[in-house]
Amino acid sequence: MNFIQYVANSRNIPMFRDDDATVREALGRHGCFGDNGRLSADGYALDCPDLDNPIILFKNKSDKEKRRFTIAHELGHVFAGHLSSENQKGAVQGIVHTKELEASMIGAVLLGLSLYDEWRRELTPEDNKKIAG
Ligand SMILES: [Zn+2]
Repeated sequence: MNFIQYVANSRNIPMFRDDDATVREALGRHGCFGDNGRLSADGYALDCPDLDNPIILFKNKSDKEKRRFTIAHELGHVFAGHLSSENQKGAVQGIVHTKELEASMIGAVLLGLSLYDEWRRELTPEDNKKIAG
């Protein structure tokens, strides 16, 4: 499990791949999927009225690093409180842009922490001794 998955799990935010037919059928009403059956963006963070927590939906057929940043960006929307219906009402383009920027900034931090976590896990005991001094 990478750090971003750990963060999502620790907040009980389930993540779903777009190529899961059951998920696609269940979420079709949200308009995330185009006529071709594909997700119309790299990812979405969604509030579902019948679930306690938001969910993350992501395009599975993108490369690993892009997928990881997409999930981190969508978590950014969740953590910044962008999903409440009050926030979505009357959104104007400037506010939408600001929210995307905010989600990307949070996503960049999460991605950085994830890469740091991977780097630390790959260190040998000798490397750790050198770092500790
Ligand atoms: Zn976004």
